[in-house]
Amino acid sequence: MVGGGQLARMTHEAGIPLGIRFKLLSASPQDSAALVAGDVVVGDHRDLDTLRAFAKGCDVITFDHEHVPTEHLRVLEAEGIPVRPGPAALVHAQDKGVMRARLTRLGVPCPRHRIVEDPADVRRFAETEAGGFPVVLKTVRGGYDGKGVWIVASAADADRVTEPFLAGVPVLAEEKVDFVRELAANVVRSPHGQAVAYPVVESVQAGGVCDTVIAPAPGLPAETAVAAQEMALTVARELEVTGHLAVELFETADGRVLVNELAMRPHNSGHWTQDGAVTSQFANHVRAVLDLPLGDPRPRAPWTVMANVLGGDFPDMYPAFLHCMARDPQLKIHMYGKDVKPGRKVGHVTTYGDDLADVRERARHAADYLRGIIDE
Ligand code: ADP
Repeated sequence: MVGGGQLARMTHEAGIPLGIRFKLLSASPQDSAALVAGDVVVGDHRDLDTLRAFAKGCDVITFDHEHVPTEHLRVLEAEGIPVRPGPAALVHAQDKGVMRARLTRLGVPCPRHRIVEDPADVRRFAETEAGGFPVVLKTVRGGYDGKGVWIVASAADADRVTEPFLAGVPVLAEEKVDFVRELAANVVRSPHGQAVAYPVVESVQAGGVCDTVIAPAPGLPAETAVAAQEMALTVARELEVTGHLAVELFETADGRVLVNELAMRPHNSGHWTQDGAVTSQFANHVRAVLDLPLGDPRPRAPWTVMANVLGGDFPDMYPAFLHCMARDPQLKIHMYGKDVKPGRKVGHVTTYGDDLADVRERARHAADYLRGIIDE
C-alpha cells in the first residue's frame, strides 16, 4: 500500500487474519501505518524510481491516498504491475474536472459545473449557468478536508477570491448546492466484477472535516437509498474501479441526491463498518484488490455511529482514554498512534445498538471527552 496514514494502518490490520503480507511505502517512519507495519519502505510516492523499487515483489499495489501521479501509475501498469484501482479509474478521484465530465456523460446527477478561467469567467458562470451566486470554486487537484474549496458569495466577491487561480491547476466552478445533509454510498468491486454495497450513511461535517457518520442515514427513504447504492455500483462498474469506492453525496430538500466527489480507497464514511458491519471496508478493500471473493457488507445492528476524535488542546489524551473505557465498556476505540495536534484526526470511536439517540450520544460523548471539550 502506498501512503502511511491511518487508512493504511487499518487496512494492514484487516489483512492480518486473511494471512496477507503487507508492505508499505510511507513518506515518514512516523506515519500512522509505518509505526505498526513490519515491512516499511520510507520514500517519496511522487518519485517513479522509488515506486518501481517498492513495487518489486508485490502482487498488487493499492493506495491510502490519491496523490501518486497518474502518469507514474500508467508506467507501473505498463510494466505489468497490477495497480488497483488502476490509473484509468483513479484519475476520477484525483481530478475533479475529469470526474465531473465523466459522471455527467454517464448521466449521474452532479451540481451544475464547468472549468473557469478567471474571476470574470466565474461571474459569467454564476449569472448565466449556475442560477446566480453563491458558487463554489475548487482546484481540480490537490484538495482534501475542505482545503482547495472556496465559496464565492457575490459578484464583488468573485474579484476578491483569486487564490484558486494561483495554484497552477484548472479551477472548477460549481453551483452551491443547498443541501440538507451529506450522505455517502460506499461500494467495493473486485477485478472479477463482483461488487457489494454498504448501507447509505449520513456524514455530518464540521469545519470542512467529517465529524460523525450515522449508519444507515436516518429517515432516508428506502427507494432513495437503493437508487444511491445502484448509482455507486454503476460508477464502480463503468469506471472499472477495483477496491473500495466512496461516493460522497448531497441530499437536497426536494429529495434529490447529487454526487459531490469520489474516493477510491477506504474512506472516513466507512470506518463504522469496522465494528458495525459483518465485513469492514478495510477487509473488503483487501479482498477486492487481491481479487478474492468479497465479504458480507450488511450491518450487525440497526444503528452504528462513528465519531472522529480530533486533537484538542491537551496533548496527553491518556486520562480521557481511561475515563471513556471505564464509562462505556461497549465503546469501540480506534486510535491512530499520531501525535495530538489541534484539529488533526487522531482516532475515532464507534458504538452500535437498537436506539439511535443512545448510540449517537455515547459516540459523541466519547469523541468530545477525548478531545477535551467536555469533562463530565
Ligand atoms: P475535499 O476534496 O476537500 O473533501 P469537497 O469537494 O468534498 O472537497 O468539498 C468539501 C466540502 O465543501 C463538502 O463536504 C461540502 O460541505 C462543501 N461543498 C463542496 N462542493 C459544494 C457544492 N457544489 N455545493 C455546496 N457545498 C459544497
